[in-house]
Amino acid sequence: MKIRVLGCHGSQLPNYNTTGFLLGDNVLVDAGTVTPVLTLREQLKIDYIFITHAHMDHVRDLMFLADNVFYSKRQRPLYVCSSKGVLDALSAHLFNNVIWPDFSKIPDKKNPLIRFKALAPGRSCRFGDFLVRTVAVNHTVETMGYFIEMKKKAVLFLGDTGPTEKVWRMAKAHRGLRAIFVETSLPDAMTDVADKTGHLTPQGLAAELQKLSGAKPDIYLYHMKPWFHEAIREEVKAISDRKIHIVEDGQVIRL
Ligand SMILES: [Zn+2]
Ligand SMILES: [Zn+2]
Repeated sequence: MKIRVLGCHGSQLPNYNTTGFLLGDNVLVDAGTVTPVLTLREQLKIDYIFITHAHMDHVRDLMFLADNVFYSKRQRPLYVCSSKGVLDALSAHLFNNVIWPDFSKIPDKKNPLIRFKALAPGRSCRFGDFLVRTVAVNHTVETMGYFIEMKKKAVLFLGDTGPTEKVWRMAKAHRGLRAIFVETSLPDAMTDVADKTGHLTPQGLAAELQKLSGAKPDIYLYHMKPWFHEAIREEVKAISDRKIHIVEDGQVIRL
């Protein structure tokens, strides 16, 4: 499985893009950064977009991607997939004919550009080469994590989350799980802010990783707020019993 990091940060600054991952050439996990990075030709290959939650840093480029695909006259739809609650938020607040055109009814209701596909938590669904299973995590708004499997190798994208339980139980039991992409947004000195905003600090991450017990998938850290990179990097060094990678924009990861 090839994972290209389009953006992996918790805020936007020059050279710091917000969250978007490209799997293979036709699947996105989150769409915080897509259109400034992928060529039009690459954008037109995308079929499925799995959205963790409706916060702007994870969905912004859905709007520009839809626009680009529409005006390129591609015939097949873009499937935007998540829980029903997340999709309802995108319809109500983004594709509402105020902030952006409702591409789920354009060019017409029968053959729209965007097809929203609600995924039932816990159920596995096949999308092209990938088997996808969703699980709710614990953020300030409804947020889904995704287990994405191809040829018996799986990767877990947790989405923004504070301390949570079920997804770690599932991760611990998953034999094919090779990698977990997990956020660490803030340094330990900002634990109070992290608690209020549904994010993790390095100490919070360490406590979460304990829930994996003996399972040892590689850990990929992302969603750091750019101001705190150095502090987080230093604090994460205290977690010595895990293979932890700090994700960079533009990186390509092969599992
Ligand atoms: Zn975020
Ligand atoms: Zn968020």
